[in-house]
Amino acid sequence: KLYNQVQDLKGNIRVYCRIRPFLPGQANRLNPVEDVDERTIEISATSKNGKGKKSFTFNKVFGPSAKQEEVFADTQPLIRSVLDGYNVCIFAYGQTGSGKTHTMTGPKELTQESMGVNYRALNDLFLITEQRKDTISYDISVQMIEIYNEQVRDLLATDGGNKKLEIRNNTANGINVPNANLQTVKSPLDVINLMNLGHKNRAVGSTAMNDRSSRSHSCLTVHVQGRDLTSGAVLRGCMHLVDLAGSERLDKTEAVGDRLKEAQHINKSLSALGDVIASLAQKQTHVPYRNSKLTQLLQDSLGGQAKTLMFVHISPEYDALGETLSTLKFAERVS
Ligand code: ADP
Ligand code: MG
Repeated sequence: KLYNQVQDLKGNIRVYCRIRPFLPGQANRLNPVEDVDERTIEISATSKNGKGKKSFTFNKVFGPSAKQEEVFADTQPLIRSVLDGYNVCIFAYGQTGSGKTHTMTGPKELTQESMGVNYRALNDLFLITEQRKDTISYDISVQMIEIYNEQVRDLLATDGGNKKLEIRNNTANGINVPNANLQTVKSPLDVINLMNLGHKNRAVGSTAMNDRSSRSHSCLTVHVQGRDLTSGAVLRGCMHLVDLAGSERLDKTEAVGDRLKEAQHINKSLSALGDVIASLAQKQTHVPYRNSKLTQLLQDSLGGQAKTLMFVHISPEYDALGETLSTLKFAERVS
């Protein structure tokens, strides 16, 4: 089992599929998605050509009953590698309502058990730095930004964050949004407080009719700098935890005005992300980072020695089948 994990880690791009359970009240609806085993799901669809089944394979499949702890257990090796000086990106992809925020952050009422990847990752970082404190001294700082309509906004800004931010690549200190608030953190509680501030700032400007969080990408970036206490050598790593905008296509009747503009921006940046990861997976020499703010932001952390984990989320409802299939096609391309 351990051998398999080590083998898995050799690939720098991993794709996990998570199937959301039915929500309360949906219990007896028809589910076209079945998790066959640890790596495979099967979709059954009825069309005019009869009943068909198609299967998709991932590095890992988490069925509807998978617990947050289980999901994190397979993410954990990446956390350690950040402290070893690697750059890591963890993405949540899927249509709105498929469970992206649940995986990354957790439900609204957070408990120890329901905490998502973000909190667990930071907890782990602090635990490991504590274990290593006699040999390496670590500084950890975080930034939290949002990309909305191809504009970068600081979610930790204390002045409302309406200033548009620039992205720099290959900076000496690894910080590529130099004007976004960079907060030093000493404990998981510091991080929780900052994330709460970020979530609050993200909600600004959204109404029930216009849930901005589903139309923007949010990115929590953790910068780690470690100094070897004997040699003085410095290592740097960073981890981007990205809750992507919903991948759903817009209904034709909604495709006007601001909605249309948002949809076009989302479409463009999600396909740019797909193009980048696909070209890395196929070891192509040209990687098209420049095509969106999202891929520019993550350029130093996608490819090379960096490690990428993509959670693709599936809604179990029959009505979602069209979106489910397009999500699975995206996943197939990047894995
Ligand atoms: P998204 O961020 O993709 O729009 P959410 O994470 O907000 O989706 O999930 C939609 C709803 O489904 C929320 O009420 C969330 O708590 C619930 N949910 C999502 N995934 C799970 C899960 N694995 N177990 C239980 N509830 C879930
Ligand atoms: Mg969400």
